[in-house]
Amino acid sequence: MFQVNFVDVQAENAIFDGEGWDAVVVVTPDLVSIGIDEISLLAEHGAKVDKRVGKSPTLLFAPGLAGGRLIIAPVTQVADDYADVRIYGDAARAAIAIAKDAGAKRPLLYVVPSATPKFGFASEVAALACGQELWQTLELREATGLTPAFEAIGLLSLTSKKSQLLNALEAGRVLARDLCGTEPERMSAKAFAEYCLQAFKGSVIKTAVVEDRDILERDYPLLSAVARSSFAVGRHQPRVVKLEYLPEGEITRTFLFAGKGVVYDTGGADLKVGGAMAGMSRDKGGASAVAGLFKTLSMLKPKGIRVIAELGLVRNSIGSEAFVTDEIITSHAGVRVRIGNTDAEGRLVLADLLSHLRIKAVSAVQPELFSVATLTGHVVRCYGSYPAAVENAVASGAKCAQTLALQASQWGEPFEVSTLRREDFAKIREVSGAADILSSNNAPSSVTARGHQYPAAFLLKASGLFEHGVNAAIPLAYTHLDIAGSATEGDPLYGKPTASPLVGLYQYLINR
Ligand SMILES: [Zn+2]
Repeated sequence: MFQVNFVDVQAENAIFDGEGWDAVVVVTPDLVSIGIDEISLLAEHGAKVDKRVGKSPTLLFAPGLAGGRLIIAPVTQVADDYADVRIYGDAARAAIAIAKDAGAKRPLLYVVPSATPKFGFASEVAALACGQELWQTLELREATGLTPAFEAIGLLSLTSKKSQLLNALEAGRVLARDLCGTEPERMSAKAFAEYCLQAFKGSVIKTAVVEDRDILERDYPLLSAVARSSFAVGRHQPRVVKLEYLPEGEITRTFLFAGKGVVYDTGGADLKVGGAMAGMSRDKGGASAVAGLFKTLSMLKPKGIRVIAELGLVRNSIGSEAFVTDEIITSHAGVRVRIGNTDAEGRLVLADLLSHLRIKAVSAVQPELFSVATLTGHVVRCYGSYPAAVENAVASGAKCAQTLALQASQWGEPFEVSTLRREDFAKIREVSGAADILSSNNAPSSVTARGHQYPAAFLLKASGLFEHGVNAAIPLAYTHLDIAGSATEGDPLYGKPTASPLVGLYQYLINR
């Protein structure tokens, strides 16, 4: 597997040459608080000859230290009220890139601990940022046989071992990035499903794949409408992947995830035009992050929690069989949906998945449901690179989104919490009376008021979850996560997948 291998290092003398490492990378807010005399002296001496030392990431000639290399990565803005733990990640990324370019194979990473509570997971965030920096695309790896830049990254910490957790999180993130970032033929719905099965082979994760057209059309009618014109091409046909993690011992909570995996989105009959289609192989970031989360679960096997997922893998193609606007399709939950726009396909895929999860949730221990999706341009317009959590009233009462936002931000994946309002339900009203609800309006979501909130109203209604509100016999907590702005970073079309919000979700699951 193409992955960073983190190794715990608990002896300070590992910084010296001959101890198995070939570069020392220090992530620190300043040169005086490093706390290891040999490094402080070298850094302070270096700062006398090069004013950049301590201000920007620099490599110092360091005789006696591992590999003769000392890379000082300053963490800037630690006193800034609006800075968060990601400043440690930014510093570590810049430094590890220098270590790689310098030819190191076994860098030793030391993150100077901070007493500031919001930087409590600075060393973990820094290590994960190195993983993000070092990941390379699946296409490149398969074309060239590329192997990881480093044999290992040592994590110098005298107080705690972190490698098991970080390797499991990073394994999940590698899987999520591979699934999300790969082009639409290599990572078709079929290939996505096979990649998942391979990833979970021999693990504790139970897997199942639905691929029969009759079963898909019966059990996932909205998803199958989106997939309708893809059935004509064998290699483009849809899949539903089901995953389940069962812990050893008692179950105290159940988490159920629906993941949007639109492996390519042409927009369908409402075709994306004027160059708006490029990059649409990344419309599968939700399903990818959820699959990655299960990889992490499979390695760490946390007690007490049961986790279930359904991933909807569909190519939204255009062709003579394509579904069109005005059609009325009955969802798995029995709700008659008027199609408002075929490019609003993600919510159709998710609604049927959520309906299946709803049935499982009714008899589950302490269930919480989630959908994870690159759903709208509106969330990007609204929050930039931050994902949004939109919860139903039951989840709001249980502080689901608030807790998730807190956990995730401590781990460098901050969330925005949006509120579902009555106007959001007004937006899905079907005026003719022929159908129960309308799936979408026809303006781009980015110019639609409440464009990322109101799809949650649709998802509640079309999945049947609306019937499990606060006053129902069985209330069900449900939170929709729109990750359109956070699933990738950098280039808007072909930027690196981030696997967001995998790390935040894992922390939420184990700390809930
Ligand atoms: Zn679309």
